[in-house]
Amino acid sequence: MSKLSTDNSKAAQKRYKCPKCGKEYIGYPALSREDNKTEICPLCGVLEALRDYSLRR
Ligand SMILES: [Zn+2]
Repeated sequence: MSKLSTDNSKAAQKRYKCPKCGKEYIGYPALSREDNKTEICPLCGVLEALRDYSLRR
């Protein structure tokens, strides 16, 4: 890992606040599966996907 690459990616990293868990996160938001437009944190996105998957079985 080089130090230069972290500097370059800093501009692209915005801070978001996840409406689902209330935590701030940096990076790319995930779309909530509940309404397909709410931006949630990647972790909540994964949890929703897992829940959605288990509900469909
Ligand atoms: Zn979240």
